[in-house]
Amino acid sequence: MRLVLLGPPGSGKGTQAKLLQERLKIAHISTGDLLRAAVAANTPLGQIAKATMDAGELVSDELVLELLEERLSEPDVANGYILDGYPRNLAQAQALDALLERVEQRIDRALALRVDEDQIVERLAERASQQGRSDDSEEVVRHRMRVYEEQTAPVADYYANKGLLTEIDGMGSIETINQRLVDAL
Ligand code: AMP
Repeated sequence: MRLVLLGPPGSGKGTQAKLLQERLKIAHISTGDLLRAAVAANTPLGQIAKATMDAGELVSDELVLELLEERLSEPDVANGYILDGYPRNLAQAQALDALLERVEQRIDRALALRVDEDQIVERLAERASQQGRSDDSEEVVRHRMRVYEEQTAPVADYYANKGLLTEIDGMGSIETINQRLVDAL
């Protein structure tokens, strides 16, 4: 099963993707994690991506696609995967479809977590204090939300038009939300 998990920053995407990974025995692919690892390892790609990420902007489609293609060539994706943080805009959604078409595969479902903004701000403030992510300051969080609304929200429509989208209420406990996702699948 190949899944796309959509949701604004702080919607609990990463947490839910990890739970689905365990439950469904599929790989969890977070482009944010891949990028943070590249930054931490100070690779050429990481060096280019860092400033963009710290500003809450999207890293270039080409760079992220490069990372994703590399990741998709690893053996553990054979059982399927859950994409967390990709696609982030329509161009990426199309690039993903093109990439999958070449290997005669496709995305089976897209799940979109819906949460209200107050809860997001609260969750991200908590994450900022726990994990110290450099892009979780209030100003950058606000910017990331705008980027999400402008560039990523249309991706849900892209999958809706293909009949692949399920919207999930992302409010409630981690367990409750996880159960809703499992039920939807
Ligand atoms: P995330 O962990 O998904 O919130 O991603 C953190 C940051 O990494 C984002 O704010 C972007 O700067 C960058 N990023 C992650 N995934 C993508 C993507 N698919 N396209 C472009 N930039 C991305």
